[in-house]
Amino acid sequence: MVVSRTAAGRTGFAQGRTRVIRRLWKFNGGVHLPGHKDESTRLPVTRAHLPKRLILPLHQHIGEAAEAVVKVGDHVLKGQMIAHAKGFVSAPLHAPSSGTVVEIGDLPVPHPSGLNAPCIVMETDGEDRWTELRPHCDYDQLDPSHLRNIIREAGIVGLGGAGFPSFIKLNPGPGKTVDTLILNGVECEPYITCDDMLMRERGQEIICGLRIMRHALHARACVIAMEDNKPEAYAALLAATRGTDIEVIQVPTIYPAGGEKQLIKVLTGMEVPSNGLPIHIGIVCHNVGTAVAVYRAIEHGEPLISRYMTITGGNIVQPRNLEVLIGTPVKDLLDECGWHPDTLERLVMGGPMMGFSLPGDDVPVIKTTNCILAMTRDDAPAHRPVMPCIRCGACADACPVNLLPQQLYWHAHAKDLDKIQEYDLFDCIECGCCSYVCPSNIPLVHYYRYAKTEIWAAEREKQKAEQARIRHEFRLQRIDREKAERAAKHAQKKEELTSITTKNNEE
Ligand code: SF4
Ligand code: SF4
Repeated sequence: MVVSRTAAGRTGFAQGRTRVIRRLWKFNGGVHLPGHKDESTRLPVTRAHLPKRLILPLHQHIGEAAEAVVKVGDHVLKGQMIAHAKGFVSAPLHAPSSGTVVEIGDLPVPHPSGLNAPCIVMETDGEDRWTELRPHCDYDQLDPSHLRNIIREAGIVGLGGAGFPSFIKLNPGPGKTVDTLILNGVECEPYITCDDMLMRERGQEIICGLRIMRHALHARACVIAMEDNKPEAYAALLAATRGTDIEVIQVPTIYPAGGEKQLIKVLTGMEVPSNGLPIHIGIVCHNVGTAVAVYRAIEHGEPLISRYMTITGGNIVQPRNLEVLIGTPVKDLLDECGWHPDTLERLVMGGPMMGFSLPGDDVPVIKTTNCILAMTRDDAPAHRPVMPCIRCGACADACPVNLLPQQLYWHAHAKDLDKIQEYDLFDCIECGCCSYVCPSNIPLVHYYRYAKTEIWAAEREKQKAEQARIRHEFRLQRIDREKAERAAKHAQKKEELTSITTKNNEE
């Protein structure tokens, strides 16, 4: 597929617009979904009201949970670190506003498990008073490792959904070069529009963040991608990149074009290897929201304490996007946008395809929350009876990763955890395309999640058993060593006694 676009090529818009043709590729499968995007893009983004209470789970990212460095009763300022990163793959937490720590304990958090987890709870004082910030104006004078450290200290994680600490993805590693840095503005899940609004409204900040990331990675080229259903965002970013060599590309609207591997395929034709990372083919991908967070951390010294997010769904009176403080209870946002508790069918964090149901409205927004979807009976798909697999192959046709979903299903169903891994279960991105097209209504993704959980649990048990075996061997070795030492001492004493006795007898 060849798509024409207007972009700032190496000659740049300043020297005259250059019409550049970039070939776009296609990934296997995917599905066309009703967008439901217009509802939440009618109003400009404003800041959500300052909540009375902020609930900050210590685990909001991939990796080790953060560790609290405050105690109940402490008064904290906006932007002050309240939990530090524990371990390399971790991220610190900062107070989103000024106030007092009133509780540290296990509370409901947004997680598919529905379990409680450790949180710091603050009562805001209404002053919203910042701690002292340390901005860095000349990012290009800073060493990339210094930049990464600032980004790490700012608690920035990928805002596109996964929540991987960003400083790690800004380090290509020894001997690796980055050819292309891709900013992902492809928001392919229905209903979610926060990246669209961010690109419309904060194009300059996205470009500044992109430049900082490029400096950290020494990336040769930069591309910003979005779907072709976002004309306002496209125009805004074209204007913001005028006179630069940053490419702005529109890709066809098909779900899940925003998946990292799918987007790389569409833009470059390259495949990220199974069990591999984009950096293995010289590419690094970040979300557009992450770029804004990086810009604010470097140039304003601000840690990650807020984000754009969408509050939408048939149950919401005024669907819209708000800039929301991390830790804001979901109920505050529902109240701010208006909702109908009596007709609420399902509350989802994320989109209808990859999001998960919330146990209640008392859970907080976390760093990776891009959408709250309040569904009525009409929004939520009617429960259809599950029927036997008819081996139609529709699931394989729809799978964007070229897997065999039907085979995965059979092996998950049979609990054959070895066999299912031979079919590359861990390449499954849980996009739900297979379930969506299945005429037998089989909840295929549930089976894959179940199988992954079982495999991880078995792996943990194996590791535990291995550690126990090592501890046991170590103990046996210690006992043997002590026994040998005691025997040696005993022999030495015996020798000494014998020599004294011999000496006495001789005398
Ligand atoms: S789409 Fe459903 S019915 Fe068809 S092969 Fe896949 S699992 Fe079986
Ligand atoms: S959920 Fe997994 S198996 Fe199903 S279509 Fe998506 S990637 Fe393929």
